[in-house]
Amino acid sequence: MNTTTNKLFQLALQAYNNAYAPYSQFSVGAAILSTNGNYFYGCNVENISYPCGSCAEQNAISAMIASGDMNIAEILIIADSCELITPCGACCQRIKEFSTPNTIITCCNLQGTQQQYTINQLLPNGFALKELKHD
Ligand SMILES: [Zn+2]
Repeated sequence: MNTTTNKLFQLALQAYNNAYAPYSQFSVGAAILSTNGNYFYGCNVENISYPCGSCAEQNAISAMIASGDMNIAEILIIADSCELITPCGACCQRIKEFSTPNTIITCCNLQGTQQQYTINQLLPNGFALKELKHD
């Protein structure tokens, strides 16, 4: 794990440990390095009204946007899982919004096993701005 990925791992692990997941018992942490060189993180936050819950990636992206940064250089997602998890479909779309084809998406478990993806690997046909054009 390189220095940047290790820093993201530590931040995502910290967020993972603060996750609020009393219903699923499945904590997730996410950490972002923006293209401006700033770090952000988030965890999943569930709710007794299940659809009100939010994903770790979603909350990390919200923290990035709230600070004024717009572009993800790397995002790391961590969960306690033998099979590495990848972002859910909605989060892939959220990541796509603030990514380039070079954005690194690192999926990890607590032991540090990792797999890296691009957004085009995870969401090859995601909704894009060109599809909003009507001409
Ligand atoms: Zn999600």
